[in-house]
Amino acid sequence: MPSQIILIHGGAGKWKKERLSRAKESLLNIANSVKNKMGEIDPIDAVEFVIRCMEEDETFNAGRGAALNLFGEVELDAGIMTSSGRVGAVAAVKNVLHPISLAKIVMNELDHVLVSGKGAEQLAKLHNLYTSPDKLVSDYAYNRWLRAIREIHNYLSGKEIQDDSIRYYLTEIFPNITNIIKDYPELYEEIKKRYSHNISDTVGALASNENIIVAGVSTGGIFLKFPGRIGDSPIIGAGFYATRKGGCVATGHGEEIMKNLLCYKAVNYLEKYSAVEAAKKALEEAYHRTRIKAGLIMVDNSGNWGVYHTTDYFPVAVIVSGKIIVKDYWR
Ligand code: ASP
Repeated sequence: MPSQIILIHGGAGKWKKERLSRAKESLLNIANSVKNKMGEIDPIDAVEFVIRCMEEDETFNAGRGAALNLFGEVELDAGIMTSSGRVGAVAAVKNVLHPISLAKIVMNELDHVLVSGKGAEQLAKLHNLYTSPDKLVSDYAYNRWLRAIREIHNYLSGKEIQDDSIRYYLTEIFPNITNIIKDYPELYEEIKKRYSHNISDTVGALASNENIIVAGVSTGGIFLKFPGRIGDSPIIGAGFYATRKGGCVATGHGEEIMKNLLCYKAVNYLEKYSAVEAAKKALEEAYHRTRIKAGLIMVDNSGNWGVYHTTDYFPVAVIVSGKIIVKDYWR
């Protein structure tokens, strides 16, 4: 097994060319920074470090670049797990830039696995991870949300709305925008689809050495999600998983990933298959069941790694034996 291997992904989805090249450039920079630290940090800290870098970078749907929910808010999910069975996750947390660090705190300090909502925010405050909402909403995410909400408004009222009235409109005139799901489900689906350029762009990482395998994941979830919606990312066995056999991290449509327990299955396939074949087998099986669009990164306990996806693009960086490979896998 190589002394340390790290796989980093920026999310599987329909990346637009320009954002994809930015994502690849960021992955290369992050890979270089973590490579320089490799002698000093263990795989848990390596996973946290690379995910924190992506949470800082607006290119990715995590932390600062997170997709907004129907109310225009950031709600984040994250998880981390080691091959020795230690695990921590947070779900639907607000006002936290680095949910991966909060997940690590859950793993290290609480006798729980998954913490959500107000309790997660409280934990963030205790550990100085709490931040104000305006630091979290990127211009890109806000403008995308604004365009979508404007379109919903114009359709429902038959009138144009000024961008600066949108907050007013949501709070004073149509405070219950969630009604759209009950009264206009097709409109909701259509708008979500139209504005979800990068449908799936959760970030994730795997790191391993001769002693341990670590899987980590962080996401803003699905654009225009119903407030409080939790995806696959903080769910063990769905969005991330690690055992002594290997580790796996998923990105893609969370509901389908959960229904298929994608990472759990892929890791179990490592008993019979190589890392790339195990990822392929788990994803193809799920694809036949539910036409799932997703991507997986995997590593086995011999340090072999694999990538497989059913989305258009999947930018990934790998560092093995000190060498960096950055690739946008596409189909
Ligand atoms: N898996 C994430 C979710 O459903 C989305 C993504 O990968 O972008 O929350």
